[in-house]
Amino acid sequence: MWTTVGHEAAVELLDNSLRNDRLSHAYLFVGPAQVGKMTLAINLAQALNCEKDDKPCGACSSCQRIMGLKHADVQVIDLSGKTEVSIDQIRELERYASLKPFEGKSRVFIIDNADFMSSEAANCLLKTLEEPPPFVYMILLSTSEKAILSTILSRCQKLELRPIAISAIEGALIERYGTKPEDAHVLARLSSGCMGWAVQTSVNADAILHRKELIETLVNIAKADRLEKFSYSANMASKFSKNRAEVQKLLSLWISLWRDLLLIKGNCREIITNIDHQETLFREEVYYDIIDIRNFIFCLIHAGMLLKNNANPRLVLDVLILGMPKRKGC
Ligand SMILES: [Zn+2]
Repeated sequence: MWTTVGHEAAVELLDNSLRNDRLSHAYLFVGPAQVGKMTLAINLAQALNCEKDDKPCGACSSCQRIMGLKHADVQVIDLSGKTEVSIDQIRELERYASLKPFEGKSRVFIIDNADFMSSEAANCLLKTLEEPPPFVYMILLSTSEKAILSTILSRCQKLELRPIAISAIEGALIERYGTKPEDAHVLARLSSGCMGWAVQTSVNADAILHRKELIETLVNIAKADRLEKFSYSANMASKFSKNRAEVQKLLSLWISLWRDLLLIKGNCREIITNIDHQETLFREEVYYDIIDIRNFIFCLIHAGMLLKNNANPRLVLDVLILGMPKRKGC
């Protein structure tokens, strides 16, 4: 049984290809972080090595070992933040790929964050992609195909995994993970269609508390005086030098809050994201004009892009703070 939640078209395509013995030896799964790329890749690795007729059964020894990442013929290689060593990992992969499967039927290599692959490593991988041994399958996972070399892209079958329906996430959280319905309702809405995020957050009380604290800070900073605002931007800039991803996540959360204000202003309360903070948002909305809210959302998006392009973080975040709309009557 394919355990992937949503992504029905991708599952159907892979299942049909498997049954008709027409699977490609190289796939590229593209989609947002935690949308389900890894789960689908693990499912495919299970299907390729399953011992039962109805593949992947999820219950046989092979399926279980692959799920636990303990199968000798299925390797997950995560390249995130390791550009400088990725060439060694790919060379190691090449060596394993030339060996016959040790305990299963197929050797499967899942390369996570493939967009981090150096061009040297990508060129090395090309050799296997061009003439894969019949028992070797490569599954590359990436949030963006733009960063993947065109020579690699042209040798992979691309499957795009888009955010899945909120109702599907809510149902899966309740049925498969035993999440309380009221928590599942909120988490599904916050997940942006990414099942992995919802599952991970549902069992991480710290993450939920951390998000609550961040939202409170972001709401308070809108009310703060100029000095406090600049102190906050300085703090964010210093955090950025230690953990870029954390600050980008904070910007995404900030955008989601102002997007909710925009939706409330436009009488679309029922589709806001941060429903667990709706009372605060309903209260704050009256202090802003719709045009100011829209402009600040653009400022937040622009700041995120500038930071990605290595602009000076202190300058970007100071300008962002200066662009915050003034609360009416304050
Ligand atoms: Zn099985």
